[in-house]
Amino acid sequence: TEFTPQAELSLENTYFSYENQPFAVLKNINLNIAAGEHIALLGRTGCGKSTLLQLLTRAWDPQQGTIKLNGRVLSEYDEATLREMTVVVSQRVHIFSATLRDNLLLASPDASDKQLENVLTKVGLSALLEQDGLNAWIGDGGRQISGGEQRRIGVARALLHKAPLILLDEPTEGLDADTEGQILRLLKQHCQNKTVILVTHRLTGLETMNQIYVMDAGEIIEQGTHHQL
Ligand code: ATP
Ligand code: MG
Repeated sequence: TEFTPQAELSLENTYFSYENQPFAVLKNINLNIAAGEHIALLGRTGCGKSTLLQLLTRAWDPQQGTIKLNGRVLSEYDEATLREMTVVVSQRVHIFSATLRDNLLLASPDASDKQLENVLTKVGLSALLEQDGLNAWIGDGGRQISGGEQRRIGVARALLHKAPLILLDEPTEGLDADTEGQILRLLKQHCQNKTVILVTHRLTGLETMNQIYVMDAGEIIEQGTHHQL
């Protein structure tokens, strides 16, 4: 499979409704995201943010409109290529009943222990290493991982992944403002050549994003920088 180490996205007149639902969850979405751009999708609960991310991974296809990645319609990609190009941190990060190491290696099988420890420290999870290091068992039958820790493991996986497109669904939900700021700065620093789409429902801390799109009831109603909004 071909691999392009950059990701440029465009959505044109995109409409989507879930099967057996009379109303459109996404309406006339038009978005152009340049390679290397970091954008936020902001909006209240239920406005369609997660659905939009799911269209980008082809969990669903839109009923109308075109979504292109690097100028090519998404449906023309084979699944493996799309998966290689995209890393998703979903709203509910899945933690496997396994060691900390194996929970991270699924994002990047070639990473060294040093790299794994490094990234854990960066996302503020070095405390998880204290007892058994990367051999610590987490998930069922091991150390329970809090919601905020789960999200940070999700961010750690995204940072380790080579994909040029990073989709993050509320990765800082439930984190304190300091930790949130730390994670947003990390994304800024470590994903400079990558395209980042961050879903959130708070404007706070989004200074590092190139552009912020505000959604309401399935539509983009406003866009601008943190300063402008
Ligand atoms: P939140 O901030 O709470 O995560 P969101 O902006 O991510 O909200 P979505 O999850 O995209 O919102 O949901 C948009 C709308 O689509 C909501 O009305 C929701 O009830 C509906 N919806 C989401 N998933 C499905 C589904 N699988 N089947 C039918 N309707 C769905
Ligand atoms: Mg959501």
